[in-house]
Amino acid sequence: MSDGTRLVTDLDKIRSNAAKIVAKCRDKGIEVLGVTKGFNAMPEIVSALLEGGIQGLADSRMENIIDLRNQGFTESMTLLRIPQLSDVENVVKYSDVSVNSEIAVIQALAEAARSLHKVHKIILMVDVGDLREGIMSENVMEMMRRIAGLEGIRFIGLGTNMGCFGGILPSPENLGLLARIAEVVEDRLDIPIEVLSGGGTSTLLLVEEDKIPRRINQVRIGEGILLGTDTTNNRKIPWLDHDAFLLEAEVIEVKAKPSVPIGEIGRDAFGNTPQFIDEGIRNRAILALGKQDVVIEGIIPVDETISILGASSDHLIVDITNSSRKIEVGDVVGFQVTYPGLLSASQSRYIKKIFKGRTL
Ligand SMILES: *Cc1c(COP(=O)(O)O)cnc(C)c1O
Repeated sequence: MSDGTRLVTDLDKIRSNAAKIVAKCRDKGIEVLGVTKGFNAMPEIVSALLEGGIQGLADSRMENIIDLRNQGFTESMTLLRIPQLSDVENVVKYSDVSVNSEIAVIQALAEAARSLHKVHKIILMVDVGDLREGIMSENVMEMMRRIAGLEGIRFIGLGTNMGCFGGILPSPENLGLLARIAEVVEDRLDIPIEVLSGGGTSTLLLVEEDKIPRRINQVRIGEGILLGTDTTNNRKIPWLDHDAFLLEAEVIEVKAKPSVPIGEIGRDAFGNTPQFIDEGIRNRAILALGKQDVVIEGIIPVDETISILGASSDHLIVDITNSSRKIEVGDVVGFQVTYPGLLSASQSRYIKKIFKGRTL
């Protein structure tokens, strides 16, 4: 019998993935920041990251960082999305480090820090090709000169992001470029670079293959710890667990129905014109899960004999004709999640969050 639609997290697997990644990176002198945005910074999971040996946390949303502070987490927190000008006071108050690319924001951070009698650390993001955030490499020296004398902030290093907008893979070349820029800054401006932050999960492959440039000493890992996958490199990381999360959805209707709707086809609930292939009468189940809970493309039935036919806001329709077990109303159908699936399911207040495994 079902306990309703819920997201079940195995904390032991999260802890173990974190520990394995921390160990592998430590061997190369690389610190791992645990990225919490993929699971809405749920504190139970954050604790599992820390128990796995993660020392610093990172999130793209100030709301999550503020929640974690209010829940009593005292670890260093890095804001991963370049700050909003409207939010610099919170950034200084609640996070220790932020990544930056705009002088106006850096100046505002410095001013906010001075008025709060704090010093805020910044990492300058350099765009080495993915074309999301960051200054282009030829503009780094000028930016460094502009921030050099600012009081209230402390420049701690350079970072880059890859595999997001442009799908660019980290490589010895593009991370090497970051390392060379760091050396130029140190040599010409005599400014020490403490941190060279070399990307997220997709950078792990270079760590494994021992191809990561020596000077890179930080990575920011979300997906790898949570799901054991590396979407950018299109791989399951073989030495990690891949099933720390299970999305369970309760069956609310089971019926045999035709595979093609009956009547004149207009638009579906989202304005698209649906198309159907006639496969005769099929056994279908409706699950209590919909587009307002989860990105449907981001969930995969655990039972490979079940397939997703479609979804509306509140209903997920699956074909169970070939199912290996008899599915009845009140049963549960389980799904693996990809990163977008996890991101969305974590946010849904309609999905109960359950934690299993040892709590330390
Ligand atoms: C989300 C994010 C990460 C984490 O990426 P994963 O692929 O989940 O490891 C790292 N850096 C930045 C800037 C991010 O926004």
